[in-house]
Amino acid sequence: MSDLTKLTLEAALAGMAAGDFSSEELTKAHIDACMDGADLNAFITTTFEDAIESAKASDARRKSGEVGLLEGAPLGVKDLFCTEGVKTTAGSKILGDFAPPYESSVTANMKADGMVMLGKLNLDEFAMGSSNETSHYGPVINPWRKGEDLVPGGSSGGSAAAVGADMCLGATATDTGGSIRQPASFTGTVGIKPTYGRCSRWGVVAFASSLDQAGPIAKTVKDSAILLESMAGYDPKDSTSLNIDVPKWSESCGKSVKGLRIGIPKEYSIDGMPGEIQSLWDQGIAWMKDAGAEIVPITLPHTKYALPAYYVVAPAEASSNLARYDGMRYGLRVDGKDLTDTYDRTRTEGFGKEVRRRIMIGTYVLSAGYYDAYYLRAQKVRTRIVQDFENAWQTCDAILTPTAPSAPFAVGRKLNDPVKMYLNDIFTVTTNLAGLPGISVPAGLDADGLPLGLQIIGKALDEDTVFKAASALEKAAGFTAKPEKWWK
Ligand code: GLN
Repeated sequence: MSDLTKLTLEAALAGMAAGDFSSEELTKAHIDACMDGADLNAFITTTFEDAIESAKASDARRKSGEVGLLEGAPLGVKDLFCTEGVKTTAGSKILGDFAPPYESSVTANMKADGMVMLGKLNLDEFAMGSSNETSHYGPVINPWRKGEDLVPGGSSGGSAAAVGADMCLGATATDTGGSIRQPASFTGTVGIKPTYGRCSRWGVVAFASSLDQAGPIAKTVKDSAILLESMAGYDPKDSTSLNIDVPKWSESCGKSVKGLRIGIPKEYSIDGMPGEIQSLWDQGIAWMKDAGAEIVPITLPHTKYALPAYYVVAPAEASSNLARYDGMRYGLRVDGKDLTDTYDRTRTEGFGKEVRRRIMIGTYVLSAGYYDAYYLRAQKVRTRIVQDFENAWQTCDAILTPTAPSAPFAVGRKLNDPVKMYLNDIFTVTTNLAGLPGISVPAGLDADGLPLGLQIIGKALDEDTVFKAASALEKAAGFTAKPEKWWK
């Protein structure tokens, strides 16, 4: 049998439906690939034995005619989603060996649809980072390499690396400021952050609740649509979950973009962006035009304030969300001389440097003396950014931009320069601040042969158009490059 790990999710589902192979065979092939790829450090916890059991159960269900949307597909889960009885770390030391007694709604949906979970994927600690280097469990290595080890992007670096290295057919991820799309861009994979409220946040370890959204990382646009169909849906346990139907997005893929108006925001041509990224963006514009779309120049005038606003709002919410880790109920506890000292020691030892930095920034901007100057201002900027997009939608139906201002960089290169690291999110944070859907599609290689992505941003709840435009882009780009398998 040919290498089953090379299949897309769509092809693997079709192969099982046709009886060409079983979920057990497919799962075993992926387990082998995961073991081969151990040096990439994509997984924090593997659940191979359980995976084989669930693959067998899936094969039995299929025989009895019960076939879910993801029936028998071996997938990975970012270790920010609580999984019942399986260690969930959020990439942090502070959660210790915490094994949640409950399942996140997103993964519960996927399990109900027949997912076979291979394990829990590495990430930046509490999803704070753009390189997967802040994880307590060590950095993830990008399967794409050029002379030296490169970062896979973050925070969903494990998800992106595992999909990029064919260790799983797809993976869950989360995106607070770009953590699905930037790692997808860095690994030649597809990643979509849907409209805020599409996927339930229940059981997803919180970073910044008004920005956090779950979504998939996949090999193709259609695969990402299939995964999102399973992940999304109303959940009464999350008060921000949207009570609306989940469309058949996989059917939007491949539909014509004739007459679709694609906006090109001039503010996204930033100083210092490599020429190759600008030319890829120009190429993307030409591709969309050739596919029948109409290109319209637009302006999003408050773009330059998005990053500073994000790095006030996100830490503010994080400082509040992370207050719960006090060593009392679960996870790590470092005993001190009294209660306060125990809190101090637990949090000092349990949180890494970046997380502590965010807590400090967050408590500062929320403090009585600075609230108006920082937090309130950032919220006002957020409103302006929402309005920028509202104005843009008067003349366009979707927006095309680069996903990230750089190609994957070397491990260690930006770790000690937070501002440089934060600049990675310049093209992605705007959609989180406005709650809009955004997808990254692999569109080309740079001069070093490293993958680069382009982003499509859509109107709220209009994933349909996002998938349509993204698959047109995917088709035109014809991106088939794969990293050379150096890891085993
Ligand atoms: N890189 C951004 C940050 O560090 C976004 C992270 C994310 O989307 N979770 O906050």
